[in-house]
Amino acid sequence: MADTAPFWRRKALAELTDAEWEALCDGCGRCCLIKLRDAGSGVLHYTGVACRLLDPGTCRCRDYDHRRERVADCLAIRTLPRAALADLPPTCAYRRLAEGRELPAWHPLVSGDPGSVRAAGISACLLAVSEEHVHPGDLRHFILPPWPEE
Ligand code: SF4
Ligand code: SF4
Repeated sequence: MADTAPFWRRKALAELTDAEWEALCDGCGRCCLIKLRDAGSGVLHYTGVACRLLDPGTCRCRDYDHRRERVADCLAIRTLPRAALADLPPTCAYRRLAEGRELPAWHPLVSGDPGSVRAAGISACLLAVSEEHVHPGDLRHFILPPWPEE
């Protein structure tokens, strides 16, 4: 691969600097939606209910530096075993690159525009309601259909 290729094509995920790793996150907020795993099938379902720390305006975490202290099940994506990346949405840059796929045209690193995630309809904040407004017993009513491959 030519040295002029962007960093995500030149380097493996494990080789990225912290800044490169963070830049790969498109800010879709999909991984911040509450998930339910079917005890029988093992299938993971995303709900349209967002973590209480997800800012609906920016679709970013309100306390990113302390997220793991404040929310016990917040995903530490960088330390997830490779197989667990398959539980991330198919749009997620980390999953895509781990699977050998390219970043999509709407990814900010490709488009040059952070607004392209929302414009492409990828942002979870287009559909999410905060968990502050949903009783835990009602979460199953918010299960989303499987993410389309994008
Ligand atoms: S799903 Fe992936 S790209 Fe989207 S916010 Fe989460 S880590 Fe970032
Ligand atoms: S704590 Fe922040 S990063 Fe973690 S799931 Fe909640 S909003 Fe997302």
